[in-house]
Amino acid sequence: MQLNVGMNQFDPARVFCIGRNYAEHAKEMHAPKPAEPVVFMKPATSLVAEGQPLVLPQGRGSVHHEMELVVAIGREGRDIPQHKALGHVAGVTLGIDLTLRDLQSRLKQAGQPWELSKSFDGSAVIGKLVPWSMQSDIQNISMRCTVNGTLRQQGNTREMLFPVVEIISFLSRHWRLLPGDLIYTGTPAGVGPLVPGDRIGIESTEIGRFQWECR
Ligand code: ZN
Repeated sequence: MQLNVGMNQFDPARVFCIGRNYAEHAKEMHAPKPAEPVVFMKPATSLVAEGQPLVLPQGRGSVHHEMELVVAIGREGRDIPQHKALGHVAGVTLGIDLTLRDLQSRLKQAGQPWELSKSFDGSAVIGKLVPWSMQSDIQNISMRCTVNGTLRQQGNTREMLFPVVEIISFLSRHWRLLPGDLIYTGTPAGVGPLVPGDRIGIESTEIGRFQWECR
């Protein structure tokens, strides 16, 4: 898959995801607030763009939607200080971190990695990227998620426990960030199940509106 940010095209490199980045969501998961960002990854092959079918995994328990701000990296960097982090952002959009919730609970209990529940084909749903302008406030982006017209999730990036600059700086101490890297920055509260036939919409006044029909 190729992603466009304005006139620029790039191939997605890696998909980083931040867990428990909103206090209310950590609470609904009965998980403590983390002391530093909780990081996991999805393969770039798990991305589903708008217009592509959103196929839910079958027979593996409940599949939850997690609406998230997604940040696209446009400039390479290692050990990026927080005050320079936004200079590495090419674009932003909204996405859905699809999660096999029952399976994730079992994996957590067994102390095993989350990949089976988080990184399956089609698990990284992504809207159209909009170019990032340094004048906008990345920590004041509102977002809503509806399923069949009913509001499920509502949040604002100002509620993040670790703001975007801190996430970028943290990730860049562990990986050299590359153009085409995507970062799912965590979900506000209100996550819930999806079933085939559901219509899911994610929208933000600052970014746009995207929707998929689940199969
Ligand atoms: Zn998530």
